[in-house]
Amino acid sequence: MAEFTIIGGNVSGLSAALHLHEQGHDVHVYEEKIWNKPCGGAISVEFFQYLKKKWNVELEEAHKGRYMIIGLPTGKHVRIESPFVTTTRKELQEKLIEAAKKQGIKITITGKRLTHEEVFDIATPQTIVATGYSKLSHQLLGREWDPKDVAHILRFDGIVKEASYPDDHYIIIDNKITGYGWLFIGDDHHLNVGIGGEVASLPGSFSWLNYFYQFIEVLREKYDVHINEKLVPRGWKLPLPINKKKYHVSNTINGIEFIGVGDTVGMAHPILGAGIEPGWMSSKCLAAATNEKGWIDPSKYQRLLIKNLKVTSNRRLDVFLSRMMRSSLPYNNYFAYYALKMFTTHMIQKMRENHWYEIQYHD
Ligand SMILES: Cc1cc2nc3c(=O)[nH]c(=O)nc-3n(C[C@H](O)[C@H](O)[C@H](O)COP(=O)(O)OP(=O)(O)OC[C@H]3O[C@@H](n4cnc5c(N)ncnc54)[C@H](O)[C@@H]3O)c2cc1C
Repeated sequence: MAEFTIIGGNVSGLSAALHLHEQGHDVHVYEEKIWNKPCGGAISVEFFQYLKKKWNVELEEAHKGRYMIIGLPTGKHVRIESPFVTTTRKELQEKLIEAAKKQGIKITITGKRLTHEEVFDIATPQTIVATGYSKLSHQLLGREWDPKDVAHILRFDGIVKEASYPDDHYIIIDNKITGYGWLFIGDDHHLNVGIGGEVASLPGSFSWLNYFYQFIEVLREKYDVHINEKLVPRGWKLPLPINKKKYHVSNTINGIEFIGVGDTVGMAHPILGAGIEPGWMSSKCLAAATNEKGWIDPSKYQRLLIKNLKVTSNRRLDVFLSRMMRSSLPYNNYFAYYALKMFTTHMIQKMRENHWYEIQYHD
């Protein structure tokens, strides 16, 4: 059996640890800290149940809105029974770490970001890179993202007492700029609100902060959500390439083969930016690409990823609509609403048929 160092202990790093360990390999995870990573924290109800059943991970802070509004800035929307549970990322990471430790997996919380040089002191011949969108990922994987494949995100997460709203979750997809906004409502005045989009096709004068406040206005005017406090969001970046084949999954430096999972290989959904379940799945594909001696075959891994994404979170319609959104074509509201309805129905139905966190196709 093989030995693997995994750098990064959030969703995809911990999935890699659990699945490689399940196969009998010796794994050691290095994570900087347990923290409330920026993330909407929306996961499917099915993934929530799977975590509980398969890994005994019980997310107590999870909140299920009864309905989800998926709409346009015009107020036109589709209201569906919510397919998502929202959770805090701190709890998700904490509970996954607990579950991994119970399996006997070694986890070191380093208390600081590991540097490129430090990684070589702890690396195994094949080392898993699960450090998300970060300098270290870029160095280890020799990665340069095309700016068109990176979303910019502003997000506020916290207690907002001066607010009134129906008990729904909201995703408002913009048909004019290439992005969307979300509002997830938790218990006890907890709001998680953000906007994100791809920056490459926007004019130089575009301000994400203005867009964030415009989104709050759209919520007020068109969706009866009144947030009466000035929220101060923080900015993040998230890779969400449409064409996942464009980027390699591994890179060799000084005889060490680094293999990426999760955000390091751009797993997130090309429109929604949901990357938790696709990240989980990427690590399952990684484990499925090991041979009997525990050697990961990177080409097999990439093949499995592509095949599985095609039936999970990168289906033809997702790809088509995300290309349309990024093309800056002047859509009219009628088309945008039609596309939204089609996408929503299709996405939810397919998500239920082929879970985004599971491997549907083996080689
Ligand atoms: C604002 C925002 C909202 C989002 N909302 C959603 C959502 O609602 N649903 C959804 O499914 N997805 C969402 N996503 C996407 C999702 O967060 C990511 O796709 C997912 O977290 C990827 O997991 P990962 O494990 O690959 O990487 P990450 O979650 O980025 O984890 C990387 C880990 O590596 C650690 N690390 C990084 N560098 C080092 C280092 N040098 N040394 C040691 N440790 C290091 C970090 O501390 C971190 O814990 C959102 C993303 C953002 C930015």
